Amino acid sequence: MKEKRFARERTYIKEQIKCALERPGQRAENHAGMPQRSAFMPRVLAGMAEGFAQLLFPEHLYCMACNDLLGGENDWGLCTRCMSAMFSEDILRRTTIEGQGESGVSHAISCTVYGGLSKEILSKFKNKNQPWMAQDLGRLMAQRYREECWADEANAAQQGNCMGAGAKKAAQLVTFVPMHESKRQKRGYDQAQLLAQQTAKALELPYCQCLQRIRATAPMKNMSQAQRLSNVNGAFAWKPLPKQQFLAGTRVLLIDDIVTTGSTAKACAEVLRRQGAADVTLLTFAAAASGMCT
Ligand SMILES: [Zn+2]
Repeated sequence: MKEKRFARERTYIKEQIKCALERPGQRAENHAGMPQRSAFMPRVLAGMAEGFAQLLFPEHLYCMACNDLLGGENDWGLCTRCMSAMFSEDILRRTTIEGQGESGVSHAISCTVYGGLSKEILSKFKNKNQPWMAQDLGRLMAQRYREECWADEANAAQQGNCMGAGAKKAAQLVTFVPMHESKRQKRGYDQAQLLAQQTAKALELPYCQCLQRIRATAPMKNMSQAQRLSNVNGAFAWKPLPKQQFLAGTRVLLIDDIVTTGSTAKACAEVLRRQGAADVTLLTFAAAASGMCT
């Protein structure tokens, strides 16, 4: 309860600060295409106020998986025991999805496998009204993505490719698999959207909502791959960007909380590819174990 109270108050304060102070700065940036002097003071004030809120309501008091009190050195919102249980070497392997490549999803990366602690975390995040967990989860996902890029670069360097495969594949825009508006209103937030925003922030990449779910889809837990594909067929549509040409030739990082067979990601990637995306990489927090992890 204490954890919830702290987190809610902290989130509320931060949101208030954001609404009150960031908007004038953003308007100034958008208008001229580069920051103006009028954007400076709101940023300073926002930084001071955020620091003050941090003092009053420190983050990372409890492990988001097991609820144990965290030591001051922890920076991921997880205790060392849960960190090692979820992110051990043998589960940090590439995720593959059925029809990968042809599907429009060129790479699929997950932080961990779904089950146990990761299931507990996602259940809290999605079903127990704890949207603030996106901050730590997004940072974990960003870190996992960076590791994949570094690994690709190291492999490419070993093979004598000085450009580095990772550098060539690195995403330029972060977007997400949206939930249907009716479901979002019921939950109060779209978890994949929050993860995408936080991942983009941690990776210092632009974030944008490029897709909309135009048809509510049935839960896919017990569906076959063919049923899943049919369930999501035509469920997603392009959400026009303020500057539509922005997506053409862009390498997109598509975010979701969990991947099972990849049929949903495939449906999204097809829409993104039709709009000119050069590459779509799927990044999820967890991959369900049904033959997903290589
Ligand atoms: Zn823990």
